[in-house]
Amino acid sequence: MASVELKNVCKSFGTVEVLRDVNLALEGGEFVVFVGPSGCGKSTLLRLIAGLEDISDGDLMIDGQRMNDVLPAKRGISMVFQSYALYPHMTVFENMAFGLEQAKLSSDEIKARIAQAADMLQISDYMERKPRQLSGGQRQRVAIGRAITRQPRVFLFDEPLSNLDAALRVDTRLEIAALHKRLADTTMIYVTHDQVEAMTLADRIVVLNAGNVEQVGTPLELYARPASQFVAGFIGSPR
Ligand code: ADP
Ligand code: MG
Repeated sequence: MASVELKNVCKSFGTVEVLRDVNLALEGGEFVVFVGPSGCGKSTLLRLIAGLEDISDGDLMIDGQRMNDVLPAKRGISMVFQSYALYPHMTVFENMAFGLEQAKLSSDEIKARIAQAADMLQISDYMERKPRQLSGGQRQRVAIGRAITRQPRVFLFDEPLSNLDAALRVDTRLEIAALHKRLADTTMIYVTHDQVEAMTLADRIVVLNAGNVEQVGTPLELYARPASQFVAGFIGSPR
């Protein structure tokens, strides 16, 4: 189980400081949700953890090991994006196999991992389709399935439901909750600006505001004892 620790992490783009002295200690196997308004730095924080952006200052530790200079592919992290990020010219199977082939797994191992993930996400029937022949919900399930095949120690989700319609959002949210139960050893970090998602999925919630951590706590703690007006407004405000 992989713990994730951020120590005084700062991120600037040019002269614009987007994250300021972020300190967080996430336990292995935890489901942590980052919430906060648009533009507060949620995606940037995920991208720093994934290694898709460089950390300007501070340290990222996974399992006690400093990760700042470790290549994304060597971090043991999978990420699911709002926009699915599937390769349009490849079939579902090829999309899922691609990263595993790059990692030089045997074809038997690749088939076994894909079959297991496809079964978990109920996408076995779509293996020969191209992404454009799938609905949004099916595409996101493929993207989640592909992420699972990498057997990550840390699973990152960046607003995975925001392109789905309301009914599918509920279904997919329940699927992600089930996935967390099933992959109990995998640390999950989930970004959303939706309070319902945060309150229902999280073991702990991290509230971000303009590049700062406002509060960290269980959904109940944040609801019952918000540390600031901002948190109270965010957790308590009507949707
Ligand atoms: P969120 O995901 O919470 O909506 P982001 O992390 O995407 O917020 O963005 C935080 C801030 O950083 C925003 O002001 C955004 O404009 C800025 N930002 C993000 N990525 C870049 C970039 N590559 N270059 C310059 N500014 C960026
Ligand atoms: Mg974002």
